[in-house]
Amino acid sequence: MQTDIKSMYEDEIKEMLVSMGEQGYRASQVFHWLHQGVKSFDEMTNISKNLRQKLMQNCYISKATIEKKLISSYDDTEKYLFSFADGEKVESVLMKYHHGYTSCISTQVGCKMGCTFCATGKSGFSRNLTASEMLSQLQTEQEDNNIRISNIVLMGMGEPLDNYDNVIRFLRLVSDEHGMNIGMRHISLSTCGVVPGIYELAKLKLQLTLSVSLHAPNDEIRSRTMPINRKYDIGQLLEACRCYIKATGRRISFEYAMIDGVNDSDSCAHELGSRLKGMLAHVNLIPVNTVGGTGYKKSKKERMKSFIEILAKYSITATVRRTLGSDINASCGQLRRQSMEPQKEGSRK
Ligand code: SAH
Ligand code: SF4
Repeated sequence: MQTDIKSMYEDEIKEMLVSMGEQGYRASQVFHWLHQGVKSFDEMTNISKNLRQKLMQNCYISKATIEKKLISSYDDTEKYLFSFADGEKVESVLMKYHHGYTSCISTQVGCKMGCTFCATGKSGFSRNLTASEMLSQLQTEQEDNNIRISNIVLMGMGEPLDNYDNVIRFLRLVSDEHGMNIGMRHISLSTCGVVPGIYELAKLKLQLTLSVSLHAPNDEIRSRTMPINRKYDIGQLLEACRCYIKATGRRISFEYAMIDGVNDSDSCAHELGSRLKGMLAHVNLIPVNTVGGTGYKKSKKERMKSFIEILAKYSITATVRRTLGSDINASCGQLRRQSMEPQKEGSRK
């Protein structure tokens, strides 16, 4: 079996080269090329032909191929459907902000977590992505637009903490100063609340932003919409979040998709406020994206306003997240689902 060389740390490449009878210092050249986004060993022009051939025999360079691309006519947001060597497909979204480009990438093909409002959750789980496949999504977007990406959010398809080892490897590789050199402070990781993963992450004390998809103020509503809550309830989740804040000194961002008549009443806001009171936290309110078949509708604007005012009484700041690319179904999972079952899925929200 060939080795996935773009998922390897530089010192691992060095060890491999030495075991092939090569000089260890070549590792930094190989590592540099891989993170420049080369797709073949032949592009590594300062490496001898002999070494390139050895690498070709033993290793492969993973890539993300563009299967489909949609560009929003409102705001230039681009949504990609990528395929990998085995034909599996994931989505990624490239957003342009005044401070630069942010890419929202996938960490798994599908997701096991089954949240009822989520298109990815509805199409089941296929496999984890490797670190190199996460990098390849960024590299293809950079090449396709001739740009540098400055910020990354792990908010595409999949639950990052359910693919913990590959995600941590990706984070270390993408922030490596000899690699893409995107600092942890420019990276956000979003989780539905895999509590043991939050404790593990806390130990690493990374300076990334942790986003926790809360979406409900109590176990009754949360267990109905997010099955993970039946395993780790809100009490356990918030305890893990407090521990995370203490360990890292970083504020947590709570995601709250506002669903009409489900979680958007004033009493929900009071319940949420009293649970989060005193925490180093910010709440992001997101009008839910309507996914075919769920029957969920976006909350009215006045509900959002009321939520923000009530949360302020508990000294919790909340903002409504700006939605980009709303004409191209920019929230993840919807494009892949369409490509899987084109005749069943209504395409527009
Ligand atoms: N699995 C992780 C990260 C990927 S989902 C997580 O759940 O946090 C990225 C974000 O999109 C999460 O906050 C998720 O709850 C949210 N999301 C999923 N479907 C949505 C929808 N239909 N409308 C609004 N937000 C949605
Ligand atoms: Fe998975 Fe996140 Fe979608 Fe839930 S919201 S099904 S955890 S991708």
